[in-house]
Amino acid sequence: MASIADNLLTVHQRIDAACVTAGRAPSSVRLLAVSKTFGAQEVLAAHGAGQCAFGENYIQEGIEKITALGMQGTRTLSMPPLSPPLEWHCIGPIQSNKTKGVAQHFDWVQSLDRLKIAQRLNEQRPVNLPPLQVCIQVNVDGGANKSGVEPEHALELALALQELPALKLRGLMCIPEPADFAQTLEVMGKAKVLFDQLKAYPHKGKSLGLDTLSMGMTADLEAAIQAGSTMVRVGTAIFGKR
Ligand SMILES: *Cc1c(COP(=O)(O)O)cnc(C)c1O
Repeated sequence: MASIADNLLTVHQRIDAACVTAGRAPSSVRLLAVSKTFGAQEVLAAHGAGQCAFGENYIQEGIEKITALGMQGTRTLSMPPLSPPLEWHCIGPIQSNKTKGVAQHFDWVQSLDRLKIAQRLNEQRPVNLPPLQVCIQVNVDGGANKSGVEPEHALELALALQELPALKLRGLMCIPEPADFAQTLEVMGKAKVLFDQLKAYPHKGKSLGLDTLSMGMTADLEAAIQAGSTMVRVGTAIFGKR
């Protein structure tokens, strides 16, 4: 069986090949390792192979893992703190009663689709932590997966987020329904157009300055990179079947 380190190498090769095909620099696409349902040991194995950014869907599970791995280095001197540090992305739905834990433990929230949740995260972000980095989740294909704002409401939410100092808007995230390459490319192309519009939107004499378009998973990362993704979120191809 291939190890997590082998799998990471294979995923990086896929990303690099897709970048070459798309005429893009391989450094223009970040890899988020989606560790949901896998344990701290698997995260450590991936980190040992050079992976720093991890994504979690289920808040409680994510917080437990983050906390367990954060103890690294505090218990015994033989376990030094992880370097470079882990970066945690919340990529799943957030209910109001879960915002506090998210604000306290995660570095990024990619699944933001409601102002009310954003306001709570802004209030609950501890002052000693840097702003929470956020992406607006957009429902680009109107798919059965009903999370995400409608594309025509993304700008309104993006502008409202500018008033929340403990949040820093970085871009958009989308989870298109599974489809063939051409259809996926078309849907993701719409996300890219929206991203470019928002990125250039003037706000207080500047552009919104977004830099992250998070799309593409194990099955569709090649289409995502072709369409302009800057961050692919990969679980199965790194950690195995869930
Ligand atoms: C599970 C999940 C992924 C990773 O999916 P794989 O198909 O295992 O690569 C990416 N993004 C989100 C939002 C997910 O829920």
